[in-house]
Amino acid sequence: MRVTVDHDKCQGHALCFGLDPENFPLDDLGYSAVDERVIPPGSEDNAQRAYQGCPERAISVHL
Ligand code: SF4
Repeated sequence: MRVTVDHDKCQGHALCFGLDPENFPLDDLGYSAVDERVIPPGSEDNAQRAYQGCPERAISVHL
């Protein structure tokens, strides 16, 4: 599983970080620091929660 973040959509709510801090680090301004990330087995449920929790639909999941 792989995730990408659309930085044109990201508004820096940090909800992704709150739901999955391991896979969704933030930059110094509170926006997602993720461009593309391979989610390690075992934390896919957390990544799914972050995906569903992003109010801007900035996160995409690629299976
Ligand atoms: S929850 Fe969505 S909008 Fe907010 S920081 Fe994360 S990717 Fe960006």
